[in-house]
Amino acid sequence: ATMRKDRIERTKTVCTYCGVGCSFEVWTKDREILKIQPDPAAPANGISTCVKGKFGWDFVNSEDRLTTPLIRKGERFVEATWEEALSLMASKMTDIKETHGNDSIGFIASSKCSNEENYLFQKLARSVFGTNNIDNCSRYCQTPASTGLMRTVGIGGDAGTIEDIESSELVLVVGANPAESHPVLATRVKRANKLFNQKLIVFDLRENELAQRADLFISPKPGTDLVWLNAIAKYIIEQDWHDADFIEKRVNNFQDFVDSLDTYTLDYAEEKTGLSKELLIKVATIIHEAKSMCALWAMGVTQHMGGTDTSTAISNLLLVTGNYGKPGTGGYPLRGHNNVQGASDFGTMPEWLPGYESIEDDKIRAKYEEAWGTTLPKEPGYNNHEVVEAIQDGKVKAMYLFGEEMGLVDSNINYVHTAFEKLDFFVVQDIFFSKTAQFADVVLPAAPSLEKDGTFTNTERRIQRFHKALEPLGDSKPDWRIFQDFANKLGANWKYEHPGEIMDEVAKLSPIFAGVSYSRLEGWDSQLWPVNKDGTDTPLLYEEEFGFEDGKARLFPVEWTPPYEPGEEYDLHLNNGRILEHFHEGNMTYRSEGISHKVPEPWLEVSPELASKRGIKTGALVRLKSPYGETEIRVWVTEQVKGKQLYFPMHSMEEKSAVNNLTSSYHDKDTHTPNYKEMDVKMEVIEPS
Ligand code: SF4
Repeated sequence: ATMRKDRIERTKTVCTYCGVGCSFEVWTKDREILKIQPDPAAPANGISTCVKGKFGWDFVNSEDRLTTPLIRKGERFVEATWEEALSLMASKMTDIKETHGNDSIGFIASSKCSNEENYLFQKLARSVFGTNNIDNCSRYCQTPASTGLMRTVGIGGDAGTIEDIESSELVLVVGANPAESHPVLATRVKRANKLFNQKLIVFDLRENELAQRADLFISPKPGTDLVWLNAIAKYIIEQDWHDADFIEKRVNNFQDFVDSLDTYTLDYAEEKTGLSKELLIKVATIIHEAKSMCALWAMGVTQHMGGTDTSTAISNLLLVTGNYGKPGTGGYPLRGHNNVQGASDFGTMPEWLPGYESIEDDKIRAKYEEAWGTTLPKEPGYNNHEVVEAIQDGKVKAMYLFGEEMGLVDSNINYVHTAFEKLDFFVVQDIFFSKTAQFADVVLPAAPSLEKDGTFTNTERRIQRFHKALEPLGDSKPDWRIFQDFANKLGANWKYEHPGEIMDEVAKLSPIFAGVSYSRLEGWDSQLWPVNKDGTDTPLLYEEEFGFEDGKARLFPVEWTPPYEPGEEYDLHLNNGRILEHFHEGNMTYRSEGISHKVPEPWLEVSPELASKRGIKTGALVRLKSPYGETEIRVWVTEQVKGKQLYFPMHSMEEKSAVNNLTSSYHDKDTHTPNYKEMDVKMEVIEPS
């Protein structure tokens, strides 16, 4: 035993932070995490990692870890056994279901957790509780991008691999900050820009690091991306620069699309976006001259009233210019969390079973009913946004949430908190006692990725295994085990002994995962869905066919939705997003010494112009107010932002300095993704410096 204890273990894992999906070995001795060792064979990253992947692991051994179930007793929580916690959940949730109906319970899944865990959670919601009220946090970020792709090319995933991006002649980045949010992917773009003369155009409000290196950095008025996208598509068609041959053979609905662009003249675009006609023509010309173009986008596009339409407009532009089906072309929404792609792929969405098979399709439902031995509800359930409204309206009485800090990261958190208070019963499962957990009736201790086995799917649709390096701390358990124990308390009789068996079940049921198996995911091996039965995967989509029945893509006309503006009194535009060192509310990064030491708190970026007008310097403390709430934060004066633009990093574990005190409940009209990026505020100075 002593010998074993002294041994250094090397375990392959996948990064638990962003959607790039870097894999590497973690070296451990007992519970000590010694180092992260990258390997040239790692498919998404090779020998690269960023600061989070390299130094962001101390949270696993944090004293703040939940190590035992907790049950609320009045205002306090008391420690409980698993038996007590699960029995209480079983009796309360059964009661609520019997009294108020199946759809009185909501389930919130986690894009931090594995594919197998997400699959089991939707199986629990659908087959044990009989509800489709299930969603994951892609509702806060990526659903508009997936929907835009499904409308146009039929598949809600990146068109090719991260490596393919290097072979593109032109990379168009819209509303994204990859150098901080997807650092290792950004390194590839920087490299291609330097070595292969790849052209880079960045459209963003803020001159982020990649923007500073771009051939063209363009900053349109907030919320107007759809206008310039449509105007450039129109101009390209008018110049006869569109790929007529590609469109003829592979794309439907061209004429309708052309007709839909009538309004989007260069004059109109200049007026709405603030970009000159000359600049728009220059961009159109660069696009025309490039033999291949791919488009990368993220929350700067999706988190708007028209986020789905703008995502659609990006894909339309790619189709018009024949930029799909070859390496270095196509749409690349940059997925935020490590498993935001996989959580949706594995069925934690109100309208989709795993692999994007519709819950409303009788044949598909019958297939799952037979496999699971239950009857399934046909109607799509409430999404994350609707479930909050349904709680407010008294329709949803109980909620089960895991690995998701809705109480800080959802938009308009004060409103969300009032909803939590109305719940009759609330289960929160996490690795820490989160803000959300404060509203819970039962809190369950989960195990992070280093303490369990499973797979994550990165932004390229790449499924990769991660392996258990440490035992779960205290009484914590892998999420999949908790779901199984709970389901079995309710008589489900699930018998999974390992996540590999869950994957085998998915492979049998879901055609896009037909050939996925743990035996094909050994070592550094990975598979990019769709995967045929024989195990051949699909690094590049659309080489032969698009994801529609006739194999053709579809141009999808879209109209501009002006951004939400709360009124003149709110005179500053508040943008928000990530910084390199931290991740979301920071529950893991602030608990990692190497990172929190360097960047202990978030700050508000203020332009030199605005700072001098208000008489403030770096270090000043200000209060921001919106119609929904207020928050206090320290200022950093920087030229990264211009004029009346503010940039607020979203990383705050303190409620009083959380950006979502300010954001509203307005949302994308098609997917209900909150319009986080459309917020005007006013600023009061508390301390000038
Ligand atoms: Fe992790 Fe993303 Fe950094 Fe890679 S780029 S190490 S996946 S946070």
